[in-house]
Amino acid sequence: MSSTASGVSAKTAEVVICGAGIAGVAAAYHLAVRRGIRDVILVDERPPLSLTSDKSAECYRNWWPGPGDAMVSLMNRSIDLLEDLARESGDVFRMNRRGYLFATADPDRVPLFAARAREAAELGAGPARFHSTPTSDYEPAPAEGFDHPLTGSDVITDTSLIRRHFPYLAPDTLALLHARRCGWFSGQQLGMYLLERARESGVRLLEGRVEAVDSTGGRVRSVAVSTRGGTQTISTRCFVSAAGPYSARVAALLGVKLPLLCERHAKFAFNDVLGAVPRHAPLLIWTDPIRLPWSDDDRRELAASAEHRCLLDEFPAGVHGRPEGGRDSPVVLLIWTYDVEPVEPRFPIEVDPAYPEILVRGMSRIVPALGAYASRLPRGVVDGGYYTKTGENRLLAGPLPVEGAYVIGALSGYGLMSANGAADLLADHISGRPLPAYAPAFSLARYDDPAYRALLDDWGDSGQL
Ligand SMILES: Cc1cc2nc3c(=O)[nH]c(=O)nc-3n(C[C@H](O)[C@H](O)[C@H](O)COP(=O)(O)OP(=O)(O)OC[C@H]3O[C@@H](n4cnc5c(N)ncnc54)[C@H](O)[C@@H]3O)c2cc1C
Repeated sequence: MSSTASGVSAKTAEVVICGAGIAGVAAAYHLAVRRGIRDVILVDERPPLSLTSDKSAECYRNWWPGPGDAMVSLMNRSIDLLEDLARESGDVFRMNRRGYLFATADPDRVPLFAARAREAAELGAGPARFHSTPTSDYEPAPAEGFDHPLTGSDVITDTSLIRRHFPYLAPDTLALLHARRCGWFSGQQLGMYLLERARESGVRLLEGRVEAVDSTGGRVRSVAVSTRGGTQTISTRCFVSAAGPYSARVAALLGVKLPLLCERHAKFAFNDVLGAVPRHAPLLIWTDPIRLPWSDDDRRELAASAEHRCLLDEFPAGVHGRPEGGRDSPVVLLIWTYDVEPVEPRFPIEVDPAYPEILVRGMSRIVPALGAYASRLPRGVVDGGYYTKTGENRLLAGPLPVEGAYVIGALSGYGLMSANGAADLLADHISGRPLPAYAPAFSLARYDDPAYRALLDDWGDSGQL
């Protein structure tokens, strides 16, 4: 086998992975480094980690709803693996555990926070603690470090305690839910670390596009890759689709239909020169629907504009944001998806020019000091991509109905946090190891189960922020 400008020239491989986003890179790492499969080729037509995997807000959480405990179990496993990786690498990807802080000013939502904390405890996210007096022993999260022992959640309903620990939040905040085994890290650093370790264990990168998979006789036989130097055909008995927003297209090469959809999601990063969001803050999430704050003049102008009148309507819950970078960084990152219509993935993505203003105004509901930017919007960077997901927002990691073919995909808005758990599960499938109890919840075959299909009709909260 000889190296070429496009990476490798290979006639055979034990495993061919299509896609070097976080899913493909994590799959290569778990197969090569943790399962000892040496002959893995990772194919991508783009530079590794450059399509969806560098657009993420890079947060993680073990905070997921049911039905069942599969999501929490998979995510706990993924976070265990992330913590192992942080430990062994000297935390090259700067993982913290500041938590997710959900906030409400709606009295009706306050009991829901308590119910959610209890439900999460039952699902395995960790214990629920309640703080309803000014002297309660709520413990804030440290700004740095990934292995603080608190898990589960704290529900704070005493407003003086809220004010004492979170003076920068809206003064009418009535309750907080602080989910603890949550935080963020550098997704690019994580991906590069996994890729380097995988390459040290023999994984080869091939720059090119997977154009065809020969599955004559119902089993994988070879993969055709178009490269700058022409088409290479790689004989293999194992093919993994890790194609992100193109997963359905790649599965179709095998005659398999995946039940996937894509939603557009974007983030806005800007310099918070006024210091509205403290540098030590956790991820802040407003859980009430809101109307954007406008001046009377703005309101009149918007009401007169057919195009912009909708900015006076109520927006859905879920605006969120966090400080980004080290202590000296001024950057704040905001996200809010209020339009979740499925779309065809197209790159580069188009984002509403009004998005930064909507975000800043929306986020000023939870951090009022951000309102100072509303009249003079700071310059910043908007970028985004697609959440590629199943209808119920549960990922796919397991075999496809063609012998030797597998998928790791539908990682939705949680691919950075789940990639290690999903790749670990995929590697168990491929290496024939015993599977964890949650494996069926992430297999494509779950849709063949009538009981599961019945659940889909009445799924409830998908856990998407
Ligand atoms: C705005 C936004 C915020 C997000 N925030 C978070 C967050 O806070 N936490 C979190 O965990 N996740 C978050 N996510 C989700 C996360 O980014 C994704 O789940 C993850 O990046 C998906 O990774 P992937 O490897 O499946 O896909 P991708 O990164 O898109 O990689 C797929 C790769 O496959 C390649 N490919 C496709 N078809 C072919 C082919 N035929 N031949 C060769 N190569 C091919 C592509 O070139 C691409 O490189 C966010 C996403 C967005 C858009």
